[in-house]
Amino acid sequence: MTDILYTYKNQVYMNITNQCDCRCTFCIRTTKKTVGDATNMWFEKDPTLEEIKDAMDQFDFTGYDELVYCGYGEPTCALENLLESAKYAKEKWGIKIRLNTNGLANLYHKRDIIPELAEVVDRVSISLNAPTAEKYQAVTRPQFENAFQAMLDFGREANKVFEHTQFSIVDVLPKEEIEACRKIADDLGVHLKIRVFEAN
Ligand code: SF4
Repeated sequence: MTDILYTYKNQVYMNITNQCDCRCTFCIRTTKKTVGDATNMWFEKDPTLEEIKDAMDQFDFTGYDELVYCGYGEPTCALENLLESAKYAKEKWGIKIRLNTNGLANLYHKRDIIPELAEVVDRVSISLNAPTAEKYQAVTRPQFENAFQAMLDFGREANKVFEHTQFSIVDVLPKEEIEACRKIADDLGVHLKIRVFEAN
């Protein structure tokens, strides 16, 4: 049985797909078998919307004010199920929706999906990962050549419509890279979150 919902550090997360258009060198999928209270996060086949809704119905959302779409995979690769299940969660439990994303969905879907996301998502966290296109390509190994600029564009546009938008990096980057990332975020007017890196 694969966990669609799991909790970690007092937050509840949605795992709706294992698909991803990146192959990040640091991806938690390659270093940890599971996250939080999940027992298995790998699907034999991605869940259907009905299976996602069933899992949500069985979860007690009492005490949680935010539902985070995260991984083992890039949630926007399962866009329809993301949109429909987030809508379901908002209507049924009145809960805020956060999307943790690589910010490449507009490339992946070959259209601007931000307006669709904005109907159900409240907060967006985008993995910035690196301060230059070259470093970004090396660390995230995306399917696309122009991914770095597309991710920045996504962040800039997301910042106009969501309640909160942030870029995220980890604190183990060299100091000069952290400062370069801070400048990128500042120039785009997007908040920068520096996360504590957690190895295994
Ligand atoms: S974008 Fe996320 S799920 Fe995809 S490879 Fe990178 S860290 Fe893993």
